[in-house]
Amino acid sequence: WILPLSLLCGLGLATLYWHWRKLAYAMPQRLKKALQRREFTPYYQPIVDAAKQQVVGYEVLIRWREKGRKWVSPSEFIDAAEDSQLIIPITEQLMEQVLQDLPLLPPKTWVSINISAIHVEGVFLETLLARLHWPQPERICFELTERKPIQDFKQALLHLSALMARGYDFKLDDFGTGYGGFAYLQRLNIQQIKIDKMFVDHLTEEGSQTLLHGIISFGHQTTMQMIAEGVESPEQVRLLGELGVHLIQGYVFARPMPINELLKWQLPNSTNVAHPRSSVTRG
Ligand code: C2E
Ligand code: MG
Ligand code: MG
Ligand code: MG
Repeated sequence: WILPLSLLCGLGLATLYWHWRKLAYAMPQRLKKALQRREFTPYYQPIVDAAKQQVVGYEVLIRWREKGRKWVSPSEFIDAAEDSQLIIPITEQLMEQVLQDLPLLPPKTWVSINISAIHVEGVFLETLLARLHWPQPERICFELTERKPIQDFKQALLHLSALMARGYDFKLDDFGTGYGGFAYLQRLNIQQIKIDKMFVDHLTEEGSQTLLHGIISFGHQTTMQMIAEGVESPEQVRLLGELGVHLIQGYVFARPMPINELLKWQLPNSTNVAHPRSSVTRG
């Protein structure tokens, strides 16, 4: 009888260990550990005014190197961070670092921070800016995506308007990929859009440009500031320029970089693309 008993004990222990591992390695647990160890780092991707051939700002993209593991991509943890509300302290930690890096960046440039719907539904963003003593509203803007829908538009509008009145800017990220893009712009009074890579990809595909043309002419008619993201080739830069979109972000100019690399990076002047006219450069 000893054999079955020890087998049973072994099985019990294995199950316990399995449950413990599952709990310890669940994403919210890992994110909490990462916060304690300060494992999150901001990477910066330049946003270029292709007509003027100058950098106007930088999108801040979070990077996470987990202890004992490899890099974990945002697509693997942002959703869990939002669901667990850990995105609030995570964004704070990220912005603390961005604040330290800000004096190192060229004086007239701005940084663009990705935020989640919960940031603006509550007073999180206001509290955060106050706690960080964020110095200049004109040197920061926020990218709101419609990936997670806003539940309480009334509250969001209240908070957004208050921040906008104090000079903070908001952009609608990944424009055209969600369901509520136009509603967001109208109801939240957002004046800037980021045209998603999906549409930029269509640029060079014969016959698939209709949607992009529609978006851009909507943008012009409503005097939106437009940034094209995920731009990978000089040909795309040229075509976007012809359509009147000059603010470009993508591998064609630079990949997201840590601050030390960014400080050594220079805008290549080899992208010889003709531009009809320039655009606003305010973030
Ligand atoms: P996003 O805000 O739309 O950011 C653009 C994504 O496209 C980034 O991916 C960037 O690395 C990538 N990208 C930029 N240029 C090119 C290009 O030319 N070609 C290609 N193929 N990709 C390009 P990343 O860094 O993996 O971030 C993915 C998403 O995760 C972001 O999409 C954003 O929604 C979210 N995210 C990133 N950082 C943060 C953050 O700090 N807070 C929050 N809430 N979300 C974040
Ligand atoms: Mg973004
Ligand atoms: Mg985007
Ligand atoms: Mg995108």
